[in-house]
Amino acid sequence: MSTLTNGLSPRKYVSFTRRDIDRMPQLQRLGESTLTSMKALSAVLPFRVNNYVVEDLIDWNNIPNDPIFQLTFPQPGMLDDADLTAITRMIERGASDEAIRARARQVQLGMNPHPSGQMELNVPVHDGVPLSGMQHKYRETLLFFPSQGQTCHAYCTYCFRWAQFVGIDELKFAARESESLTKYVTDHPEITSVLITGGDPMIMRTKLLERYLDPLLEIDHLLSIRIGTKAPAYWPYRFVTDRDADDLLRLFERVNAAGKHLALMTHYSHPRELSTPIAEEALRRIQSTGAVVRCQAPLIRHVNDDADIWAEMWRMQVRLGAVPYYMFVERDTGPKDYFELPLVRAWEIFRNAYKQVSGLGRTVRGPSMSAKPGKVLVHGLSRIGDERVFALSFLQARNPDWIGRIFFARFDTHATWLDQLVPTGGAREFFFEPEMRWLEDERRRETPSHPVRAEIPHTRHAPSARGKIRLPRSHPPGWIARH
Ligand code: SF4
Repeated sequence: MSTLTNGLSPRKYVSFTRRDIDRMPQLQRLGESTLTSMKALSAVLPFRVNNYVVEDLIDWNNIPNDPIFQLTFPQPGMLDDADLTAITRMIERGASDEAIRARARQVQLGMNPHPSGQMELNVPVHDGVPLSGMQHKYRETLLFFPSQGQTCHAYCTYCFRWAQFVGIDELKFAARESESLTKYVTDHPEITSVLITGGDPMIMRTKLLERYLDPLLEIDHLLSIRIGTKAPAYWPYRFVTDRDADDLLRLFERVNAAGKHLALMTHYSHPRELSTPIAEEALRRIQSTGAVVRCQAPLIRHVNDDADIWAEMWRMQVRLGAVPYYMFVERDTGPKDYFELPLVRAWEIFRNAYKQVSGLGRTVRGPSMSAKPGKVLVHGLSRIGDERVFALSFLQARNPDWIGRIFFARFDTHATWLDQLVPTGGAREFFFEPEMRWLEDERRRETPSHPVRAEIPHTRHAPSARGKIRLPRSHPPGWIARH
């Protein structure tokens, strides 16, 4: 263990999953029927929590409304009543694990496990073969999913990557994945930023993380490395007292010394996650290496659907030296009916929180939908003639030419996602939709029925074949994720 830091003692990580529901003392006050229902819910949705979250973050006198309880423990409203009743009855009847798993899988497949074209559109293709473990949706940025980082210190009930925790997705890699990452980035000079993501890459030991990061430091055109993580919220000991915490900080320092910008894209859902001494110390130590902490989270009903909560969170982040970065709209996957808010409400919450913070907190952008064509920002409400409209634009897009172009949708009190919005002025579709359709058709033609491959073959492919766009003549030029 590293030495005590600022009087904070090392803590042994203990996780709790579905199997521990009957054994967790904090849960026993909830009564047997609630626990059975929790077992039914966690047969469908991933459930994992740890001793820090349970003992230090949840207020057990405020159950079930406590936001961190809502964030980490499955709740009855997350499943359709009929599905929940059916699985609960199976548990009460003593049905086999296999039968419960089969019924749960039916429910999971009906919950849009792969939102926003993650599987069909984002995975890079080499010689017509999709490369698993990477996503190249935006020109400059490659997402990389190391196999050992595909779990988390605790699971968020609203996680949009929930499908990989219940075994639906196949995002896992084979042995030489680190080489594949380095080779892919080396071969693609347009990539200036790699985002290592998961799950949570910070679940990996430092030695493993080094195997991915160190080779990247040799690539000149790579300017920044981002690590997507919720460890500073769910297990801040990772950066303070865990056995290899100091080695991790040395690795961060190496990235900076190599002239790369290192950003921890940290997921904080509620100010309470920033309020403990260990959470503050984790942030202090991360930033002492030169790394920048940027903070992002979705807006979630039952967890943080209040402007004051966001304003407080952004103020705390600024005080601790971190950068408020994104407020996301909850994605169209998993138990979204339980968590989602209408876009107009999301915009009101964002605006009312934004008004409360100083300029240093106004680095945040949102509410933003990570939709199939790109990240769409809800600027706000306006009027065109007599019509009330949403003003929208792309913060990031599959085609960079779409970025920053304001477009309008008819005002709709109930709409919660881009695909529910209708263009204004009688237009039948938004300006990006024809190109999007073309891209999807092309992708289907290019990758008919290939198995996903984990590695890039070691023959060099012609640079001229990369990054070229073969749009029909009528299409505007621009980069679209094609490899
Ligand atoms: S930490 Fe991130 S990847 Fe892990 S469960 Fe939460 S949202 Fe999902």
